Amino acid sequence: MASVVSPAEGIAVGPTKLLINNKWVSSKSGKTFPTLNPATGEEICRVAEADSADVDEAVKAARHAFEQGPWHKMNASERGRLMNRLADLMEKHADELARLEALDNGKPYAVARAADVPLSIACYRYYAGWADKVHGKTIPVNGNYFCYTRHEPVGVVGQIIPWNFPLLMQAWKLGPALSTGNTVILKPAEQTPLTALRVGELALEAGYPEGVLNILPGYGPTAGAAIARHWDVDKVAFTGSTEVGKLIMEAAAQSNLKRVTLELGGKSPNIVFADADMEETIEGCHFALFFNQGQCCCAGSRLFVEEKIYDEFVERSAARARRRTVGDPFDPKTEQGPQVDQDQFDKVMGYIESGKKQGAKLVAGGARVGDRGYFIQPTVFADVQDEMKIAQEEIFGPVMSIIKFKSVDEVVQRANKTMYGLAAAVWTRDITKAHSVANSVRAGTVWVNCYDVFDAAAPFGGFKQSGIGRELGEYGLQNYTEIKTVTVKL
Ligand code: NAP
Ligand code: MG
Repeated sequence: MASVVSPAEGIAVGPTKLLINNKWVSSKSGKTFPTLNPATGEEICRVAEADSADVDEAVKAARHAFEQGPWHKMNASERGRLMNRLADLMEKHADELARLEALDNGKPYAVARAADVPLSIACYRYYAGWADKVHGKTIPVNGNYFCYTRHEPVGVVGQIIPWNFPLLMQAWKLGPALSTGNTVILKPAEQTPLTALRVGELALEAGYPEGVLNILPGYGPTAGAAIARHWDVDKVAFTGSTEVGKLIMEAAAQSNLKRVTLELGGKSPNIVFADADMEETIEGCHFALFFNQGQCCCAGSRLFVEEKIYDEFVERSAARARRRTVGDPFDPKTEQGPQVDQDQFDKVMGYIESGKKQGAKLVAGGARVGDRGYFIQPTVFADVQDEMKIAQEEIFGPVMSIIKFKSVDEVVQRANKTMYGLAAAVWTRDITKAHSVANSVRAGTVWVNCYDVFDAAAPFGGFKQSGIGRELGEYGLQNYTEIKTVTVKL
């Protein structure tokens, strides 16, 4: 496949077509769409745009691979070996993948190189290890029968991923799906299709059989919706907004009742007690909010700080935000790149306006940086009240809201007053307080004196409207297998 080179950065962007049945093809409509460099707003290249006809084609290939291709007969250990080979190839091309991620998404290259790429590789390795270790039980049923269970793949799996961690979300999805023997149609986000396609190319090099991994860049309401409502897709896994998550579930219900797992939005409470280590906590809470330009589903975006230290905490957090370096994703000193696109930029700026209007106190940032690309100053609001929009809705940008509280019971109650339940954190030196909060907060992940600590072995996912099911770890495998009970008369 001929590579396009981005004139701006001299980066080879790799494949730009659809990957169906191990072939790079144009979309049936012939349509393409642009992917932009968020640092400049300029087009990097155009990419083939999948629609429902292409989804049909990919589902046919995936179905054939699942039922008749070499995949369905392959040893489980061989599936693990293929996945390790993909991980090896990603390691070999780690630098290139990190550059491409930075170019297409806007995140700092150094962060992509230190976090996104190695975490993705670790995820593939982790699930490579599981390939031949997923097995059933023998069950002592009444009567003279031999009863056992098999954990079989669900079948043809559709996966729809967002743009905030393109490589990593692809790994979280493909890892458990391919390890357990499913076949996949993956739709990357329209803003960031390039690394997903490059990983597809590496999967071909690794030797995945035809039809096992199909990658269809395209838009959500067309290609994404076609996957969600397809009658021959057995499961759909989605990461993105709660709003679209509901559409996915509706489409699944109205078609073939395909299995649905959802990893959705959040408005995670990050609770700081007065006895916490001030220095470490300020840096930790800064990271919890501003990491990845604030574009994290689990961002610590409701920052509750105990009254006794509130003023000092606000002042020092604002100072830290002002020191945050915003700029060129390829400059090694850059901590924060641009937001992913104009829509996200406008949305975040809208929340900043709303914070000001509703009476929160702007203590850092609040404005655009430069005059091209989608850069926003690290922004901090103090005196934020629970009812304000910036304390209720997912901003998905570099906007910190600091809220005051007095007691443990009160803060837990307020922390839980949300439709979301993805993550939470607590900062304290008091182990009893830490565990008490960890037990009482309704969230899928709780960090104590740390934030955004991820590991392929530790499950992640949401309570309430933050999602259904868990990704990562052993728990993540459950969503990719069906349990079969076999009973034999003896
Ligand atoms: P989104 O619309 O939920 O997009 C996520 C993925 O779903 C993309 O691949 C998208 O395709 C696809 N999609 C969109 N509409 C669809 C439909 N009707 N059927 C099937 N698939 C569909 O999120 P967004 O518009 O990029 O961002 C909006 C907000 O969502 C953000 O501001 C943030 O609050 C939240 N978000 C959360 C996460 C997370 O990690 N939980 C990630 C990203 C965004 P397109 O490429 O066409 O959009
Ligand atoms: Mg892009």
